[in-house]
Amino acid sequence: MRRIKVGVVGVGHLGQAHARILGALPEAELVGVVDTNNARAEEVAARHRVRVFDHHLDLARHVDAVCVVTPTVFHHPVASDLLRRGLAVLAEKPLALNLTEAEELVTVAERHGALLQVGHIERFNPAYEEPRARPINPKFVEVERHGTFTGRSTDIGAVLDLMIHDLDLLLDLLREPVVDVQALGMTVFGKHEDMANARLRFAGGCVAHLTASRVSPRPKRKMRIWAPEGYAGIDFCDKRLTLVQPSAEVRARGLNARAVAPEARQELQEQVFKRHLQMRELNCAGSNDQLTNELREFLHCAGVGATPRVSGAAGRDAIALAERVVTALRAHSWTNNANGPIGPDDLPPPAGWLFEPPMDDTLGRAAA
Ligand code: NAD
Repeated sequence: MRRIKVGVVGVGHLGQAHARILGALPEAELVGVVDTNNARAEEVAARHRVRVFDHHLDLARHVDAVCVVTPTVFHHPVASDLLRRGLAVLAEKPLALNLTEAEELVTVAERHGALLQVGHIERFNPAYEEPRARPINPKFVEVERHGTFTGRSTDIGAVLDLMIHDLDLLLDLLREPVVDVQALGMTVFGKHEDMANARLRFAGGCVAHLTASRVSPRPKRKMRIWAPEGYAGIDFCDKRLTLVQPSAEVRARGLNARAVAPEARQELQEQVFKRHLQMRELNCAGSNDQLTNELREFLHCAGVGATPRVSGAAGRDAIALAERVVTALRAHSWTNNANGPIGPDDLPPPAGWLFEPPMDDTLGRAAA
C-alpha cells in the first residue's frame, strides 16, 4: 500500500484531531503541521513526532495531500495555493467564505487536476448513511442543529457554520434544485446571526424546515424525514436512527379508526407501533468515527484519483444555497414594514425582562 504523505494546516480544535488520526492511519505518513500560532504548532508536532513548517508553501514541497483546517476566512488563500501546486486538498467546511471564493477553488482544482474534498463530516455519520442507502423519497424534512457557544468560527454566522451541514445533506438526499427560500435569523452576541431558521421548497415538492443555533445550552442535532415510504428520525449526536413504515395492510387499506368501537380504542392505541406502523430503532455507532472515515476516503481518493463523496462542487453548491438563506434572513422584516427593523442585527427593542436579572447583573437590575 502506498502511504500518502500528508500535512495539516491549522491545528486548533479540529485540526489537532486531523493530525492525531492521520498520525495513526497506516495509509498515511503525517509529515508535518503548520499553524500561525507557533506554540500550538510545536505542541501538536511534538505529540506526533513530525515537523513544524513555517508556512503552508514550505509544507507543500514535502507532501502529496493537505488538510486545511484554518478558520474559514483562510480556506481560499491557503487551499488555492496548494491546489495550484497540484496537491490533494481536504478543506474543512464551509469550503469558503462565499460563492465567488468557492467557485474559484473548484476552478483552480479542475485546472490543475487536483483533488478537492470538503469536510462535510455528517455525510459520514452512520446514522445518515443508513437511511441514505434506503429507498426513501423525502417530502417533508425537519432539522434541528443546536450547538453550544464556543467562541470559535465567529468569522462566519450560524448558517455557514452549522446550517451548512444540513443544506449539504438535503442537496445530497434530494438531488434537485431549491425553488423557494424563506429565512430569518437573530444575532445574540456578534456581527453575524447566531440562530437561523429557514424553510426551503425543492423543485419536486419537498419542503424542509431547518433551525440552527450556536447559543444553546446543550448540543442537539436531529433530522426527521417524512416520506411515502415512512419516517426516518436521525440523531446525529447519539448516532441513532428510528425508522417507521406503514404495514402492508395500512399501505393497502389505511386504518379506519372510526370503525373501531370505543372499548377497543385502548387496544388500537397499543397496537399502533406494533401492528399498524412497524418501527426499528438502530444504534449505528460503529467502531470508526466519522472523521476517521472521512480522512480515509480522502487518502484513498488522493492515492487512486477517485472522486470523493463530498467534492469541491458539492461544497460550492452548499455555499450557494447558504448564501440564498443569508440573503433571505438579511431581508426579513420583524414588523412587516420596510421602514421597521430588518435582518439579524436589527431586532425590535426588547419589551422588558423575561425574569428578574440575577444579583451580579447590576446593570440589568438597575434597568429592570
Ligand atoms: P480553531 O480556531 O480552533 O483552529 C484554527 C487554527 O488555525 C488555529 O490554531 C489558528 O492559529 C490556525 N490558523 C489561522 N490562520 C492560519 C493560517 N493562515 N495558516 C495556518 N494556521 C492558521 O478553529 P476550529 O474550530 O478548529 O475550526 C477550523 C475550521 O474547521 C473552520 O473552518 C471550521 O468551520 C471547521 N470546523 C468544521 C467542523 C465539522 O464538523 N466539520 C467542526 C469544527 C470546525
